[in-house]
Amino acid sequence: MIPVAKPLIGDEEVDAAARAIRSGWITQGPEVAAFEREFAAFVGAPHACAVSSATTALHLALLAVGVGPGDEVVTVSHSFIATANAVRYCGALPVFVDIEPGTFNIDPTLIERALSARTRAILCVHQMGMPCDLAAIVPIARRRGIALIEDAACAAGSEILWDGRWERIGRPHSDIACFSFHPRKLVATGDGGMITTARAEWDAHLHRLRHHGMSVADTTRHASSQVIFESYPVLGFNYRMTDIQAAVGREQVKRLPMVLDRRRELAQRYLKGLANVRGVRLPVEPVWARSNWQSFCVRIADGIDQRAVMQRLLDEGISTRRGVMCAHLEASYPAGTWTCRPQGRKCDCAPGGCQRLVESERAQDRGIILPLFHQLTNADQDRVIAALRSACG
Ligand SMILES: *Cc1c(COP(=O)(O)O)cnc(C)c1O
Repeated sequence: MIPVAKPLIGDEEVDAAARAIRSGWITQGPEVAAFEREFAAFVGAPHACAVSSATTALHLALLAVGVGPGDEVVTVSHSFIATANAVRYCGALPVFVDIEPGTFNIDPTLIERALSARTRAILCVHQMGMPCDLAAIVPIARRRGIALIEDAACAAGSEILWDGRWERIGRPHSDIACFSFHPRKLVATGDGGMITTARAEWDAHLHRLRHHGMSVADTTRHASSQVIFESYPVLGFNYRMTDIQAAVGREQVKRLPMVLDRRRELAQRYLKGLANVRGVRLPVEPVWARSNWQSFCVRIADGIDQRAVMQRLLDEGISTRRGVMCAHLEASYPAGTWTCRPQGRKCDCAPGGCQRLVESERAQDRGIILPLFHQLTNADQDRVIAALRSACG
């Protein structure tokens, strides 16, 4: 059986977890602080704040830029549901805009008309690790004076051409970027997330918010020769990462350059092996983007049955997944909890579909995510290519 994804975990991670456990300091402590420094250095960000997941990272990032009840946040429906959920945790309304079919990313030309006087932030997504068009989106946010947050959950190691230089996602191109360390992503800590920013005051606020809104860090109090009484100036959360997770994450970041090389090689093999297959459309990597290929999603032509193709591959021992979901099609997103228009006006589209999110819905219903992970052999990948060719050719 060829799985769709598989984390790369070795003895180094096992030893690192054991080291943290043996140290006696197992919750947020020195390993978390070291992981923050090393991850910040890897992406080229001045500050990083480790948290319990990308979902909690997004929640805190939105709070840090001031998103609250009555606000609107422009984002995509075509994403893992956590993206839109984080907006709703703040009491704000997600305003969904459609995507570009080739990159599966937000269509920057649709953003301006989705903005209103209530828009507090834009939440863009680097879907499946493919950088979205920050060079087009950043000026819109700056011009309108609204915050820009990147859902970089999938994008550790992805790069974008910025002022003529290749820079990693998480280097502060926008205001804040949020990463995930779920096992489906390239850096896996079980669960975990990271928030990077250039603004020291946001970073300090994020560090407080993740730790019950507490005025001092446990490590500071522990190391102090003076008695310290903590205070709780803001309402916070327990969104901490543990030192066991951080110790594993530090080893994962060391592996990341090698993992990126292999994934890019595998992606090129798919692009070559599936070129000219009539029923298959390939993902598009713009000239200014270098994906980390967290997922490799093809689109099958109209008239080909998505479920039947996936079943045929499964029968041949190949596991796949449907294209990325659309939040607005889920039962947890009834009318009134989201909109596709500015000023909070209700979507007047037919139930079960939205006329303004056509490409998003097509990407869900036509997309198939193929196996791609570090340990995938060329021979197994050739089996996937052959099976898809015969199912769609
Ligand atoms: C995985 C993912 C998330 C959620 O990450 P968790 O760490 O599991 O909370 C959010 N957004 C996107 C785009 C994702 O792919």
